[in-house]
Amino acid sequence: MFETTIAGSLPKPFWLAETDKLWPAWKSSGAELEKAKRDATLLWLKEQEDAGLDIVTDGEQSRQHFVHGFLESVAGIDFDHKVKMGIRDNRYDAMVPVVVGPLKLKERVHQFEARIARAHTKKKLKITMPGPMTIVDTIADRHYGDKVKLAMAFAELLNQEARALEKDGVDVIQFDEPAFNVYMSEVKIWGIAALERAARGLRCTTCVHICYGYGIKANLDWKQTLGGEWRQYEEIFPALAKSSIKQVSLECIHSHVPPELMKLLKGKDVLVGVIDVATDKVETPQEVAAAIRQALKYVPRNRLYPCTNCGMAPMSREIAIAKLKALAAGAALARKRSR
Ligand code: ZN
Repeated sequence: MFETTIAGSLPKPFWLAETDKLWPAWKSSGAELEKAKRDATLLWLKEQEDAGLDIVTDGEQSRQHFVHGFLESVAGIDFDHKVKMGIRDNRYDAMVPVVVGPLKLKERVHQFEARIARAHTKKKLKITMPGPMTIVDTIADRHYGDKVKLAMAFAELLNQEARALEKDGVDVIQFDEPAFNVYMSEVKIWGIAALERAARGLRCTTCVHICYGYGIKANLDWKQTLGGEWRQYEEIFPALAKSSIKQVSLECIHSHVPPELMKLLKGKDVLVGVIDVATDKVETPQEVAAAIRQALKYVPRNRLYPCTNCGMAPMSREIAIAKLKALAAGAALARKRSR
């Protein structure tokens, strides 16, 4: 009961990449970089295990960014002539690569980190990938000329990698779809269909993470415009409940999401955000347990997985470790109280 996990990313150590950044530059290259990625992955596996988490991740130590980490292994994309594009419905501008030809995987994407992690932990292992809608919202297109076609092409590649990850022994494959909170009507028209395409044929646990973004300024400013109640989930959860995806990871603690919206995910495992990633203030176990208790009003206990609101990549390492411990301690407290 109350198995704990995180949304996915963890800060990179200073010897691997620049710290406190969402797009950190690597500190080395070639074989030396590969070794540093391996060491960082092992380090975070150990920290997650020592904190007491139940489902661990590679901390996304082998990728620079959660979307471009996937795109780098895809042929048909021009990275040399990036263009400026407003992303997440123009919430912020980013320099994005351009699709210029048919998309194809050049190589395995996450085999390196999945195999290292699998060889060094007996815990359940989760690997994350960007979802098709979020990818399409983070790249320009000069080839497909149609958003849905482009999304389905990416879904096909994600599926190819996901099936290979399953063979590597990965227990949970999670697709990150922050764009689901932005384009709610398109989610119902093609977003969920593309997601299901990416997850087709998988026997391992499948998950979708839908949040209001990392704790960076553009996101914090955007949240200010969303009003006293964030009801985006209300539009998409009923459709997600009918989908084949098994788990939904959502933002909860310190957000303006009305917690009763979790009721709309009937039949799904719910990864409830009980750790805020937009503040350095570390939650107490009591606070975490209280957030779990509140979620229990809407989610059956065997379907409730305490989690973080989003990834912790831009945080300091010390704070992230303290938050991992708070998460596990809070879940332990909630378990004790609900016996
Ligand atoms: Zn997130």
